[in-house]
Amino acid sequence: MKNCIFCKIARGEIPCWKIYEDEKFLAFLDINPFVEGHTLVIPKKHYRWVWEVTELGEYFEVVRKIANHFQKVMTDEFVASLIWGLDVPHAHIHLLPKPYDLKLFALGERRKLTPEKASELVSKLRLNASPHMIHFHLWLKGKKFGRLLPSINNLKGMFP
Ligand SMILES: [Zn+2]
Repeated sequence: MKNCIFCKIARGEIPCWKIYEDEKFLAFLDINPFVEGHTLVIPKKHYRWVWEVTELGEYFEVVRKIANHFQKVMTDEFVASLIWGLDVPHAHIHLLPKPYDLKLFALGERRKLTPEKASELVSKLRLNASPHMIHFHLWLKGKKFGRLLPSINNLKGMFP
């Protein structure tokens, strides 16, 4: 794509701090990193969404290769990955090594998910729900709670 910044990076028209490159994929440092080593992995060919990449398996192999490499070089197994889809409209996967000081959900006020809305969404979005999730759905229908999502501890013991 002509005016896509990541396409320009892939074509070498805009410089980047390359982390990895092969024929089809490229990884480089994010210029506005969340954490040190924040890396973006992109297909060189333009796709809007990660899920549109035809060589998705190959793409993920590359991401794995880089993440495994980060685990070694950062001597830390925690490498967060994020498929966000915002910022630049060219498929990219974020890799965030040692993301300890990252407050992921501090990006904005979380909205409240009402049981009605949750129920509607479950009906609409469910692809192949596990029995637990169906149970949760039924439980949700009969309960009122004000928080966005119950904490993991609250979820414990909820299912028979
Ligand atoms: Zn592009």
